[in-house]
Amino acid sequence: MRSLLSTASVKLDPFPSALYAAVMTTLRDTGFMEAALRLAQSAAEAGETPIGAIIVDPATDEIIAEAHNSPIAGHDPTGHAEILALRAAAAKLGNYRLTGLELFVTLEPCAMCAGAISHARIGRLVYGAEDAKGGAVAHGPRFFEQPTCHSRPQVTSGILAEESAELLRGFFRARRKGKSDGS
Ligand code: ZN
Repeated sequence: MRSLLSTASVKLDPFPSALYAAVMTTLRDTGFMEAALRLAQSAAEAGETPIGAIIVDPATDEIIAEAHNSPIAGHDPTGHAEILALRAAAAKLGNYRLTGLELFVTLEPCAMCAGAISHARIGRLVYGAEDAKGGAVAHGPRFFEQPTCHSRPQVTSGILAEESAELLRGFFRARRKGKSDGS
């Protein structure tokens, strides 16, 4: 009986710690991406392409800055969610470098934003949907892989990717419908 019990306890192996850490990281990333998605939703409601970004201090899990895409309202061709979040975080911290902070954004960053993320010394980039047309991380120029890029964040992709992509698809579908309705 005793030997049976000890066999059973071997079978009840504790959850492997590496897997546990990976699951916890994904849960944390998903929580912050949900906040970025809510910002993307606000962008859509304001008639801007629905993309949201937040900047997080991994030491405290504090959200330092948040922004959504607003080039139209801001009359600013550089008014992408990532740029606006980087500016807000740097202003708040009184530092042009955001060394080691994390940036969460619902869509793969473009070349301009990838450059700004590198200049800011962001330590980790987490993005949702892939952007085969305008992305510059896994597509096109693959900015962080270039030898001329001197500060590369750690990159995680695919967090709430389907939700982020669907928000964009729905936005453009509604806009096309609006145009065809003559409104
Ligand atoms: Zn951008």
